[in-house]
Amino acid sequence: MKFICIGRNYADHIQELKNERNQEPVVFLKPDTAMLKDNQPFYLPDFSNEIHHEVEILLKICKEGKYIEPQFAHRYFEEIGLGIDFTARDLQNKLKAKGLPWEIAKAFNHSAVVSHFVPLERYPNLYNLNFRLEVNGQIRQQGNTSMMLFDFATIISYVSRFFTLKKGDIIFTGTPAGVAPVAIGDRLQGYIEEDLFFDFQVK
Ligand code: MG
Repeated sequence: MKFICIGRNYADHIQELKNERNQEPVVFLKPDTAMLKDNQPFYLPDFSNEIHHEVEILLKICKEGKYIEPQFAHRYFEEIGLGIDFTARDLQNKLKAKGLPWEIAKAFNHSAVVSHFVPLERYPNLYNLNFRLEVNGQIRQQGNTSMMLFDFATIISYVSRFFTLKKGDIIFTGTPAGVAPVAIGDRLQGYIEEDLFFDFQVK
């Protein structure tokens, strides 16, 4: 399986990183070795001093497809979850400044935290979903899917032009404002509405 991730999909987050608003989705991949699931602890890697959390809604792809039209995109995911796109911000900034690809800052081992998944029916309106990240019991990031620049259907349609979607692939749909470094001992809890999706520690 692969992770397909969308960057710069919430205006407030684009602002906080002083990025430009993009006309098309910003896309990058993570390999299956990036997966961190079952509330396993996240171990801070030795190659960065600034690992940021980015809480994001996840879509799980349920069948193979490419060149999917937006109006049919809903047929390709039946479950959603919540995750964290861990980012080595110091590495990313260094690479960005040189105009180089920032893959290693995003796709490293255990950089993709994945919760359990629930059927879409759990949430009648996918485009008005509140989600948040709490760090040590304090709200750090808060978002609502109505604030996405590119909605789920647009994302699926766009990325499937370049990458064949396969059953089991997971899409990270972008993070709202509030990204910040994590530290050893932090406890990270993620919620969609009032449902707890993940709860793990940084070590
Ligand atoms: Mg992200």
